[in-house]
Amino acid sequence: MIFELNDEQKAIKKMVREFTEKEIVPVARDLDDKEEYPFEIIKKLDELGLSNLAVPEEYGGPGVDSLSATIIIEELAFGCAGVATSAACNSLALYPLILGGSQKLKEKYLPFICNNGKFASFCLTEPNAGSDVGAVSTTAEKKGNEYIINGNKCFITSGSHADYYTVFAKTNKNDPKSLSAFMVEADLPGVVRGKKEIKMGIRASDTAEIIFEEVKIPSENLIGKEGDGFRLSMQTLDMARPTVGAIAVGLAQAAFEAAVSHAKERVQFGRPIAYNQGIQFILADMATEIEAARLLVYQASWLKDQKKPFSRQSAISKLYASDMAMRVTTNAVQVLGGYGYSREYMVEKYMRDAKIMQIYEGTNEIHRIVIANQILK
Ligand SMILES: Cc1cc2nc3c(=O)[nH]c(=O)nc-3n(C[C@H](O)[C@H](O)[C@H](O)COP(=O)(O)OP(=O)(O)OC[C@H]3O[C@@H](n4cnc5c(N)ncnc54)[C@H](O)[C@@H]3O)c2cc1C
Repeated sequence: MIFELNDEQKAIKKMVREFTEKEIVPVARDLDDKEEYPFEIIKKLDELGLSNLAVPEEYGGPGVDSLSATIIIEELAFGCAGVATSAACNSLALYPLILGGSQKLKEKYLPFICNNGKFASFCLTEPNAGSDVGAVSTTAEKKGNEYIINGNKCFITSGSHADYYTVFAKTNKNDPKSLSAFMVEADLPGVVRGKKEIKMGIRASDTAEIIFEEVKIPSENLIGKEGDGFRLSMQTLDMARPTVGAIAVGLAQAAFEAAVSHAKERVQFGRPIAYNQGIQFILADMATEIEAARLLVYQASWLKDQKKPFSRQSAISKLYASDMAMRVTTNAVQVLGGYGYSREYMVEKYMRDAKIMQIYEGTNEIHRIVIANQILK
């Protein structure tokens, strides 16, 4: 087994870490305080070819392998998990099209989105359909050469400013298996951007409600066939899970480094607190768990690149990395004591940011179900 990144991946990692230190770290606190979407940063990532990471080169994407994409997102999350979530959003939204769209539909949308700095959102969740994807009640009714979409989506990342929505809707109200996926342009009549969520963490990312009222789209905007939607949504989440794991690893690394440097500097009882074995054990456990999570996340991405089955590893990597990030960031706050609880230091932000990793793109309970199903099938 080779555990080393290749030269290109090492260079990407270094380049993105430098970018993060220059462009993200200095503004991360401010973006969080103001709940501001990082338009400028995303534009710069676009210019560097570090956005739309999932899109193949032939459709205008950067054409990076999955492991490189994982490393890029990990390094962005070192600076701010909200920025990393924003940067990863287009890939999540475009996976259904990449995985199941016709050549014509891919050519219609992917190059334009990639070459013009456009935003896309993945619209699956609804007020009554979170973990239970089968309960989606948005409908897409076929009339002539059009589908008419009606329904409400909630918690949609980048929803407030997306130019395109990948919408999951039932093509037959009475058939739970008739979930289908559609490309919907945001400026069509009837697309209403609803309330923006005020969140605990990843506040530099945008999360909003989107309402579809009698939205007419051309029938060619159906991704794949009617009824492909459930499979496409699940495959998309499989593909995207290592990205959530990567964000968790990146932000945990930042929390760990903050804890180590504080432990070395903070003097109590006449010596740095790092001299206490109680603190040392916390730091040792943090380092161990971050390494374990990173290896799992890289392994899942590597399996994707090798075109080997990766669904189970993908779920395992997201589950472990997100639980790890919650433990590591909570312990980082503990190592900093009262300072950790203060907004003057970043660790309280890392802890708030970590929580969402256990919830979005499938909660960790649902991940345990996915993993158990694979074990027991
Ligand atoms: C910041 C943010 C960004 C998001 N971005 C997007 C996005 O871009 N696109 C999108 O479509 N969605 C998005 N979501 C939605 C997210 O994926 C859902 O919130 C998540 O899947 C959980 O659904 P829910 O909130 O309805 O919780 P519920 O499904 O109501 O779950 C509540 C609790 O019950 C547990 N639970 C539910 N069913 C079971 C079961 N069978 N066994 C055991 N426990 C169970 C859950 O694990 C959870 O702990 C986002 C959410 C947030 C908060």
